[in-house]
Amino acid sequence: MSYDRYNYQPNFKPVDHLFDDRLRQFTDGGGQFHDLNLPKFYYLEKIGIGGLKSWRVPDVDGKTARPLFKDIDFDNLEWENIGPGYSFGPSWKSFWVKLEIEIPEHWLSHEIIEIDWDSSSEALIYDHKGLPLQAFTGGERNLFRIPHKYRVTDRQTFYIEVACNGMFGNGADGHPDPNRYFRLNHADLGLPNMEARRLFWDFWILGDAAREFPGGRWEKYQAADVCTKIMDAFDPDDVKSVATGRKLAQKLLGTKVDSELVFDEFANNEIRRIDVYGIGNCHIDTAWEWPFAETKRKIVRSWTTQLRLADDYPEYVFVASQMQQFKWLKQYHPEIYSLVKEKYTTNQFLPIGGSWVENDTNLPNGESLLRQFLLGQRYQFNEFGFYSNIFWLPDTFGYSSQIPQICQLVGISRFLTQKLSWNNINQFPLSTFNWKGLDGSQVLVHMPPANTYTAGAHFGDVVRSQQQHKNLRDIPTGLLLFGHGDGGGGPTEEMIEKLRRCRGLSNTAGGLMPTVHLGNTVDDFYEEVLAKSNNGADLPTWVGEMYLEYHRGTYTTQARIKRFMRYGEVKLHDVELVTALASIKSKHYKYPAEKILALWEDLCLCQFHDVVPGSCIGMVYYDEVYPMLDELVANADKLIDEALEVLGGKSTINLDNLTFFNTLPWNRNNELLEISQTQQPELYQLISNDQVSVRDVYEKDTKLVSVSTNDEGKLKLNSIEDIKYPASVTQTSDGQFILSNELIKATISSTGIITSLYDIVNDREVIATESTKQTGDGIVGGNQYLIFDDEPLNFPAWDTELYSLNKFKLLSGGEVTVLSNNKLKSSILVKIKISDRSYLETEISIQGLLASKPDDQDFNYIKFKTFVRWHEKYKFLKVQFPTTVYTATQANYETQFGVTQRPTHWNTSWETAKFEVAHHKFMDLSEFNYGVSVINSSKYGGAIHGNLIRLSLLRSPKAPDDQADMGDHTFEYALYPHKGYLGSDTVKLGYNFNYKIEKHLFEDPASSFSKLINSIKLEAPENLILSHIKRGENDYDVNQYEAYKTQSTEKSIVLRIYESLGGATSGLLKFGPILKVAKVFKTNGLEEEGVEVEFNDKYELPISLKAFDVVTYKVVLKD
Ligand SMILES: [Zn+2]
Repeated sequence: MSYDRYNYQPNFKPVDHLFDDRLRQFTDGGGQFHDLNLPKFYYLEKIGIGGLKSWRVPDVDGKTARPLFKDIDFDNLEWENIGPGYSFGPSWKSFWVKLEIEIPEHWLSHEIIEIDWDSSSEALIYDHKGLPLQAFTGGERNLFRIPHKYRVTDRQTFYIEVACNGMFGNGADGHPDPNRYFRLNHADLGLPNMEARRLFWDFWILGDAAREFPGGRWEKYQAADVCTKIMDAFDPDDVKSVATGRKLAQKLLGTKVDSELVFDEFANNEIRRIDVYGIGNCHIDTAWEWPFAETKRKIVRSWTTQLRLADDYPEYVFVASQMQQFKWLKQYHPEIYSLVKEKYTTNQFLPIGGSWVENDTNLPNGESLLRQFLLGQRYQFNEFGFYSNIFWLPDTFGYSSQIPQICQLVGISRFLTQKLSWNNINQFPLSTFNWKGLDGSQVLVHMPPANTYTAGAHFGDVVRSQQQHKNLRDIPTGLLLFGHGDGGGGPTEEMIEKLRRCRGLSNTAGGLMPTVHLGNTVDDFYEEVLAKSNNGADLPTWVGEMYLEYHRGTYTTQARIKRFMRYGEVKLHDVELVTALASIKSKHYKYPAEKILALWEDLCLCQFHDVVPGSCIGMVYYDEVYPMLDELVANADKLIDEALEVLGGKSTINLDNLTFFNTLPWNRNNELLEISQTQQPELYQLISNDQVSVRDVYEKDTKLVSVSTNDEGKLKLNSIEDIKYPASVTQTSDGQFILSNELIKATISSTGIITSLYDIVNDREVIATESTKQTGDGIVGGNQYLIFDDEPLNFPAWDTELYSLNKFKLLSGGEVTVLSNNKLKSSILVKIKISDRSYLETEISIQGLLASKPDDQDFNYIKFKTFVRWHEKYKFLKVQFPTTVYTATQANYETQFGVTQRPTHWNTSWETAKFEVAHHKFMDLSEFNYGVSVINSSKYGGAIHGNLIRLSLLRSPKAPDDQADMGDHTFEYALYPHKGYLGSDTVKLGYNFNYKIEKHLFEDPASSFSKLINSIKLEAPENLILSHIKRGENDYDVNQYEAYKTQSTEKSIVLRIYESLGGATSGLLKFGPILKVAKVFKTNGLEEEGVEVEFNDKYELPISLKAFDVVTYKVVLKD
């Protein structure tokens, strides 16, 4: 080697930040220098498309119409001539644009010809026969590669369906803007220089490597050096310099990045390899900032686009969840649906997830959660021939402690989410782990470390998939979910091209860059995790609920959807029970299987993770969801009435033969029933003439009666004489009110605060009256309403924040009047002004009891029925009960099929985070020998801290629906003090409180309803709940799917039983001879037969459940 002796021209040392900053100039389409850099060569030619014509779809009944292509008569439309600069609008409207193009002949020899369309909105291009080809999303996806069959020089027509909304509807920060317009920026026909475009992608990844790799690493400087050389070699007057640049890029990217072959190569440092599996997806929220009606179009737009991408990139794998969305596609675009099925056979378009929609998991009840999968898995099996083995739920607001168990019941052992990375207090500590649920069942969980399910597949996303992985030590692999969601149409070609280059970089440079894979499925990834973790046994375990430390307002927002959900679930329980019984009783009764399936599909649809949480725009609720659920209830009632007619007949009403509608599997005692003169005049008259316990309630023309069931399930009207512990209300000389039934006694201040609830039998005061920061220093006691300032940092409909707990007003100044003083029920009415716009009225009542001795008491509780006129802004209404249970460190909250315990203290930030939590029909604070439950009829939010129980009632967020919860509300709750720890009485009261003694009163002279309902009996300790009775899903007269068709004409009954409190328990299932039981099978949640179980000659079947077990029996009846 020779070394020059003299240095005539000194060199400078490059200044890193200047050189790095310069890199942006090379690909920047704007700025001063684009003509001197790569953008100069992006297109060989580009021509504007002239002669555009547009038709605005007229509204139907004042609402946006979204007709299908096949329903439009294109020859007879009034077209308007338009061009760039035209504005489509206003918000939500729909347009069709006619586009005629002629491709210049000399273009045909080139690789790609494109249509470049930017209407600033979502749009979908169709061919002239109406086949959807690909979506455009203004700003995100403007290019459409003209497929080969359309590469002809003849003049040809395409149509573009323009939707007047963006990816995220029409404004996410508040009420959607009704007057948004979408500008047509351009409509061009383009002939791109694909080598220039490829250099652009090369340079993008290399530039990111130069900027984002950490200092001190050779990879960073190599990347910077290559980029600089590419720029230095570039000559804007010589298109060949593009090829020179690509050659230089190969030094770090390798030679394979232009095809899928890049994924076949590996760096030769296998031992240190960290694998990242890229999976395309497009997370379409089934409703959110847009209605269901628009979602139906988002689906075809997004999935058509993905089919195109799968054609162009053989290594590309796309997954889509939510069978409801598949069903819509099949219904509206069967031609695209069959293309989806084709790509399924090549493993490129994979249905995933198992559920009907990506549902909320806090609010639906246990049966609903199971039905999400029963609907989803069966639909998927019928269409694609397999069950999903993964619950795909990237974006839901927290995860119930029973998800692992419910997943295992429906054949799912894997789970994916990402949402916990949104926690706003604690960082969730794991990425890949076992999640153990309430009953001990587990699922294998992965949370993609890039902390997004809509990654842009950037260099940084790939690197973060490694760097942010929480337990790489356990398992050196992660998933990267990429693709625009919500109408962005999923991944773009650019994303796949970037991933090819990331892989090229790791093949040559290795080390800092994880090895990104395309072509593998989600299954492959989980298989690899199992293979590398001793089948999961080596992975860490998370036990119990996966609480999302965010979006805590969603347990309360949009009270009406919550009420509908609880009520709808009860209705569907009742429908399935009575129709099942009717179909057993009568051969002439046709089981309404299709209608019942449709009801469940609608209810499950409304459990979507923005619908039931209350976080959609108003249009979703007022135009779609509430009418849908109103109809659901009406249809359910109709089905119930029809079935009852089969079961009993209801010609004349005779008090002696009257059966009332108790659909719970236990007797009801002393239930109060309101009989309305307008709705049930005949019955009203009979009762008015009868000498039973009767009184007028404060609603006009309504009588109240007390009813019980006897062992045959027949109605019994209780008489005044039956009441051993009569209710009463008295006013003391100092203005207080005493409500008592001689077993408990409530003292209520003249302003409506319960200052004492004394349990006479157990000699126990229930209400605490010490003044604290939370109770204030006025009159302290129970049923104290509070109004909190509720101004969250983000997402008003979703969020309520910790600091709100310190800023509240106790509502005072209540006015109390005696409403009724009656042995059956005594009550007072408390009226409280909330503001100049809002007030509430609560009836506080106590019931007279029938029991002959105190220990045998009926459920003895104080009931609250509240009417609220609510016109507030960013306020949160709650009610609180300070109790004398001072030291319990855990409180109990009912979850789907069990109880979740949560701390009552704020020891660490993890407990602080749970300042507002979800529950179902009750929450409970108990010490070992005494406790207090709060039962509710339609509420889901609440919290118990220290000795204080708070039930969340109403919120008033102004975005995305500024009308959310405005107006009138009625709801009920109860305070139930009980001897001993939380027990089955609270569980049952929760049921009784929600499963009202319905006014489906009917005559049952032959007792057929009673006999049938009594032919299925669970004899067991009361913590075992027979929660659901329905027809077998696969029976010939129930099943709606080709794949499950059977020759058998057997009928079966399916029973769901669960252990509700957390202790292994045995019992006996008894079937009456009327049922004609042939065989009994234990099944999974999909009703697939497992082992046959023996019963004795008395048709008795011993059953045994583990703590929090949920079991399903299929009872096959003789033909
Ligand atoms: Zn979502």
